Amino acid sequence: MSLLTYKDRPVDIAPGETVLDALLRAGVEAPYSCRSGNCQTCMHRAVEGKPPEQSQKGLTDAQKALGFFLPCICEPTAPLVIAPPDDAGAAMEATVREITPLSHDVVRLRIETANFAYRPGQFLELIAGDDLKRHYSLASHPEEDPFLEMHIRLHPNGRMSRHVQETLSTGHKVHVAGPRGTCFYEGVDADQPLILIGAGTGLAPLYGVLRDALRKEHRGPIRLYHGARERKGLYLTEELQALAKSRANVEYIPATLDAGGDVAALALEAEKSRAAHSAIFLCGGEALVKRLKRDFFMSGASLKAIRSDAFTPAG
Ligand SMILES: Cc1cc2nc3c(=O)[nH]c(=O)nc-3n(C[C@H](O)[C@H](O)[C@H](O)COP(=O)(O)OP(=O)(O)OC[C@H]3O[C@@H](n4cnc5c(N)ncnc54)[C@H](O)[C@@H]3O)c2cc1C
Repeated sequence: MSLLTYKDRPVDIAPGETVLDALLRAGVEAPYSCRSGNCQTCMHRAVEGKPPEQSQKGLTDAQKALGFFLPCICEPTAPLVIAPPDDAGAAMEATVREITPLSHDVVRLRIETANFAYRPGQFLELIAGDDLKRHYSLASHPEEDPFLEMHIRLHPNGRMSRHVQETLSTGHKVHVAGPRGTCFYEGVDADQPLILIGAGTGLAPLYGVLRDALRKEHRGPIRLYHGARERKGLYLTEELQALAKSRANVEYIPATLDAGGDVAALALEAEKSRAAHSAIFLCGGEALVKRLKRDFFMSGASLKAIRSDAFTPAG
């Protein structure tokens, strides 16, 4: 096997040469700037093989776990197969197994596909046609569920929302690409407090992360905050209450605006004294995620300890 492979193309690399130099010499239009491992412009991902530790300097634990590295400071000593950081790979066919309501405007979509490897909490691209592609977070767990589960909020005029509601049914085919994102448990210290905050379908990735943390025997306290505008916007409440009851270190805190509970304000007030030594996960609307990221950072949390997915609408 060649020492360096870019996608499926072997790339010649000389002893002492960096991956970036080898790529450029081979005519690959790899982006770069500082050439010294600081700006991260050249970041790539190892899809096979482990990049040298030194080439992952300054990256988050989640990025390291996914094999991200900096080609400008990488001199591989063992075979590496690499790809651009956002390369989601080929789309795979999947079969719809279940579409059921979770609340008045959220449905659970379960689909089945062969060999879709992911970490609980990551997201995928759901493809229903050449011009209909949207990102959805995964609530399922690959070691517990034989399906991929998404929680899809039905926007009244949303194209994918209408497709899911009006066209898709059991047995239909869709395509998926991915997975993507760094919102997963791997890399968290098992004794750290784990703070999970989501609004609306922001619960989906957190549900995956929570189950993964429990499977991996997380020992620190885990507090899950789920916010919605109205009481009827909360879902999976019974499952989460039961789970919190059965595990001494798990707390489930629902909050709804109609009852005066702003999930962001509530969680920040309760957690800010612990922010500096907690692992914090933030998922849901862009405004909520941005606000909490800023506020937790101001309360002493390191940006490296905050993992988040903002559910930005498709451009
Ligand atoms: C990383 C990531 C993860 C995501 N995970 C999830 C998930 O788990 N569950 C989920 O339901 N969605 C998730 N989303 C959002 C999802 O990708 C779609 O944007 C959303 O479902 C709307 O798609 P649509 O085709 O139904 O609406 P579109 O046809 O794209 O939009 C229709 C109209 O609704 C508005 N709109 C779309 N989204 C929103 C919004 N969030 N708030 C207010 N107005 C909006 C648009 O501006 C537009 O006017 C995620 C997005 C990202 C980037």
